[in-house]
Amino acid sequence: MEETKCLIIGSGPAGYTAAIYAARADLKPIIYEGMQPGGQLTTTTEIDNFPGYPEGTEGVKMMEDLKSQAVRFGAESRWGMVNNVDTSVRPFKVIIDDGKELLAETIIIATGATAKYIGLESEDRFKGGGVSACATCDGFFYKGKDVAVVGGGDTAAEEATYLANIVNKVYLIHRRDELRASKAMVKRVMNTPNIEVLWDTEVKEVVGTEQGFTKALDGAILFNNKTKEERKIDIDGFFVAIGHKPNTELFIDKLDMDDTGYLVTQPDSTATNVPGIFAAGDVQDKHFRQAITAAGTGCMAAMESERFIGEQI
Ligand code: FAD
Ligand code: NAP
Repeated sequence: MEETKCLIIGSGPAGYTAAIYAARADLKPIIYEGMQPGGQLTTTTEIDNFPGYPEGTEGVKMMEDLKSQAVRFGAESRWGMVNNVDTSVRPFKVIIDDGKELLAETIIIATGATAKYIGLESEDRFKGGGVSACATCDGFFYKGKDVAVVGGGDTAAEEATYLANIVNKVYLIHRRDELRASKAMVKRVMNTPNIEVLWDTEVKEVVGTEQGFTKALDGAILFNNKTKEERKIDIDGFFVAIGHKPNTELFIDKLDMDDTGYLVTQPDSTATNVPGIFAAGDVQDKHFRQAITAAGTGCMAAMESERFIGEQI
């Protein structure tokens, strides 16, 4: 059976950064790319906040660059999903989608997290043309304009206050009459003059213009679930902040997770509760969820894998 010192599950910034470090440490890492080769950044156009690109770059290009850099040092990046991991045996036994089995001395989990969307057909059509799930990533493009944020939790409150510093006005659309966010965040929202909270409000559609692949959102049709009234707001950006789902199904009952499914790592470390298994990137980070933080923890995971292997000899 094929055996590797370091198996990396996932090909986003965390996975490929781990691969660069692991390959340079001669661990000859194997990466399984999963259903979204290159990860979340391949779904966006401009990346303006990753250090080292003074003119910005494109998501797909950045991920191709990261992959090439990992491959240059001897990492092997393969198509395929990891379907099962037996964490109870050493080396760990891993099953890939075609049934192939692999033994791994260490595993770096970099399977990311997926932003939740409301599920409207129009929302899907305007993704990348006004609909976004990341204010830190895309807020800049709406400088001086009006935007909406959907959600009532800490993420929505944080996104709304972040955007309020950049844009003209933020509508915070929440389906109930009280926010779920922490008291401190609620206070910040309420004290920000250019945030208007629209209570008991749901989104029916987002609307805009479409010409071929060019899309420009210009509004949202809202529905008040108490008064049953419908209204349209004029906005250029629509930020969905109703939570993320970490891609951790594979590890249920195998690794420690928090109550929202994120993998738990030890303080100042990427170590999970199973020695030899490390977690990097969005799969263990519900707070920052940025490419650079994912890359940073990818680096940590590779260094910890190398150290772990050294300690076994
Ligand atoms: P991901 O990028 O989510 O990659 C996860 C990888 O795991 C994927 O390759 C997937 O195929 C793989 N995978 C999952 N399950 C399996 C499995 N079972 N087997 C094998 N592989 C598997 N951040 C910024 O810093 N700047 C930005 O401008 C920016 N823009 C963004 C725009 C959008 C639209 C989105 C959605 C996110 C944006 N982000 C941005 C956030 C950034 O994309 C994430 O923080 C980052 O990609 C997380 O990296 P990751 O490596 O942890 O996981
Ligand atoms: P969350 O707490 O689950 O909140 C999700 C919000 O979206 C809720 O208000 C929910 O409404 C709403 N929602 C869910 N599905 C919806 C739908 N289909 N349509 C419209 N609205 C919908 O998620 P989160 O805000 O991402 O936070 C996740 C965790 O991270 C929390 O534990 C949070 O405290 C933490 N976090 C902390 C910070 C911080 O400390 N600074 C920042 C970000 C996140 P209901 O309220 O009606 O259910």
